[in-house]
Amino acid sequence: ERETALAEADRPAVTVDGQTVAVFANVGSVQDAVDARGADGSGLVRTEVLFGDRRQAPSVEEQVEVFRAVAAAFGGKPITIRTWDIGGDKPLPFLPQDAEANPFLGERGIRVFRRRPEPLRDQLRAICQVAAETPVQVMFPMVTTAEEVAWALEELGKVGTSSWGVKVGIMIEVPAAALRISSLADGLDFVSIGTNDLTQYTTAADRGNSAVAGLADGLDPAVLQLIDRVVRGVPDGVEVAVCGDLASDPDAAVLLAGLGIHELSAVGPQVPLIKARLRRADLSVASVKAAEALKQRSASEVRKLAHEL
Ligand code: PEP
Ligand code: MG
Repeated sequence: ERETALAEADRPAVTVDGQTVAVFANVGSVQDAVDARGADGSGLVRTEVLFGDRRQAPSVEEQVEVFRAVAAAFGGKPITIRTWDIGGDKPLPFLPQDAEANPFLGERGIRVFRRRPEPLRDQLRAICQVAAETPVQVMFPMVTTAEEVAWALEELGKVGTSSWGVKVGIMIEVPAAALRISSLADGLDFVSIGTNDLTQYTTAADRGNSAVAGLADGLDPAVLQLIDRVVRGVPDGVEVAVCGDLASDPDAAVLLAGLGIHELSAVGPQVPLIKARLRRADLSVASVKAAEALKQRSASEVRKLAHEL
């Protein structure tokens, strides 16, 4: 099965009823990008991983070079560069943070840069420079309020005219952001749902703690209801993607497509399998099942249902 999927990796994922679902790859290194077979580009470049081994902050030029290499590995297909997503479980040696009692509820993602915007500004300069050469989108993580979106756009604007052509989006990974999607996403090009953190914050279960792993399940109907709310509430013309790990599970990928999501970003090795699974799916059936999934009592009930798709 894996062999057939690999052989057909470069064909688009067109479902039985003729709908195309774009399947991108999540990457944290240039090698990940080189290895990503059949991806339509990258829906998530984790920059804090890309530069995670540095002792010193990379210069704008160094960042440009690495982003260029990632884009080249995808043969010029679009890549979505996420700005530094540090904090929580992800420290960066060159951006030290104050000790916090609850790091996952503290200065994470975009919150870090309100007090010291310079590292973010450098990164935006690098992203805009590469965007002049190849299709690049910029994505801000851990957004909670519309005020933060306005601030991020203002920072991007400060980079100057080079920021004009860049598509801009945010991650939806905080329940409050999902609940007020219509105001939050107003004026953006896209949003991408981070199911790892959205699940963690919806279920109040640490994503890295195996003792509560049973609670932190992305197929929990409560999480799916938030995803559904995002799809339905997003302003016209704003694309909705999913880049959390839920998109790397073939059955869940079909369920997400059934909820109306036509852009998925998965871990590289899963991309051909996700595409193969989608080609066997009928989205008119999947959308009926997805509506049923929202009403199930537990993640395991949803999992059973998704498997029958
Ligand atoms: C997520 O939270 O789902 C996500 C894609 O971001 P990360 O896993 O890097 O926090
Ligand atoms: Mg996240």
